[in-house]
Amino acid sequence: MRGRGETQGMNSREYIEQAEQDLLHTYNRYPVVLDRGEGVYLYDREGKKYLDFCAGIAVFALGYQNREYNDALKSQIDKVIHTSNYYYNVPAIEAARKLKAVSGMDRVFFTNSGAEAVEGALKAARKYAYLKDGSTDHEIIAMEHSFHGRTMGALAVTGTPKYREAFEPLIGNIRFARLNDMDSVREQLSEKTCAVILETVQGEGGLVPARETFLRELRELCDKRDILLILDEIQCGMGRTGYLFAWQKYNVKPDIMTTAKALGCGVPVGAFLMTEKVGKSSLAAGDHGTTYGGNPLACAAVEKVLDLFERNHIIENVRETAPYLEQRLEELAARHGDILERRGAGLMQGLVFAHPVGEIIGRALEKGLILISAGANIIRFVPPLIITRENIDEMVSILDTCID
Ligand SMILES: *Cc1c(COP(=O)(O)O)cnc(C)c1O
Repeated sequence: MRGRGETQGMNSREYIEQAEQDLLHTYNRYPVVLDRGEGVYLYDREGKKYLDFCAGIAVFALGYQNREYNDALKSQIDKVIHTSNYYYNVPAIEAARKLKAVSGMDRVFFTNSGAEAVEGALKAARKYAYLKDGSTDHEIIAMEHSFHGRTMGALAVTGTPKYREAFEPLIGNIRFARLNDMDSVREQLSEKTCAVILETVQGEGGLVPARETFLRELRELCDKRDILLILDEIQCGMGRTGYLFAWQKYNVKPDIMTTAKALGCGVPVGAFLMTEKVGKSSLAAGDHGTTYGGNPLACAAVEKVLDLFERNHIIENVRETAPYLEQRLEELAARHGDILERRGAGLMQGLVFAHPVGEIIGRALEKGLILISAGANIIRFVPPLIITRENIDEMVSILDTCID
């Protein structure tokens, strides 16, 4: 069979050269042109096979070429891809209903990305506070080492100064505290605090779960002072930790929650959800909008993803395979002196090295294993949620040979 690509006669190297002339260089890309996927494997232009422990950064939870998922998208394409939020559409209504049922939240706003979900969450929090006292100088507490996205608002609450610096001034009145350190939160607290935002498990910042006691104390503090708790579940949500949303493990329910990444399993879609308390006194008609957000194609994906998560027992598979992944990573750490620590939750794991991991990841790629980092010194493992023990064994045996 000949794909369209082959008839153009360019090989990977030529495509890469072309890309480096045309695409804005905001990524240092690995030298591979990925062409198609099947299950937990990806193939490049030359047909080389790669075991995928990145899943498009925690996106492709169901694996590639899930027949039912593909068919659902195709059938929606043949009906209508896009309408407008000025009209109702069935996939968005069905997707919202399902998302509410599995999250216990009350109101849903669909976005096109994670960063936009964060933007919406921040706007909802500010509007909620504004409606209470009419003032516009409210403060938001975010966490050091957090990652919430690259748009100006999401960047303003991202706790890595080097990501923010060149783009300042960002939105103001953001204060940073330390994850799992209630005293540092109290230090940043003021009469003006209207929200606290954090990832339930920090992803980009190094696979650090928020501790149960920290979450509980935060919830208590927020309740006492009518501060909104915003949990960013964009990476750690959608089953990755063995719960559909990571906060469900501790039942510390947020007032506002963000989701994206695996929500559409590849179709760009995110959402922010809120309780009725926030929903009825924050964003109102005219306050927020999006042309694409919640369009029929994206929502057909969300609806099918939630359906397949349940029917294919995705979360059960995470609970079954995650302890095995942890065990195999611990063994690896015990064998290699330059691995300092394993950490993470569920199928969202990291190995912390004593040195940068770029070279190891490059070698793994040559040997047919796709991995990504989280910061310079951490290898991050965020595979499709359908992986098996055999896939984990295969990954570990390749990785083992890539570490000096
Ligand atoms: C990826 C990510 C985002 C940003 O999502 P985009 O879709 O890239 O805008 C926000 N928060 C967390 C926790 C993420 O992992």
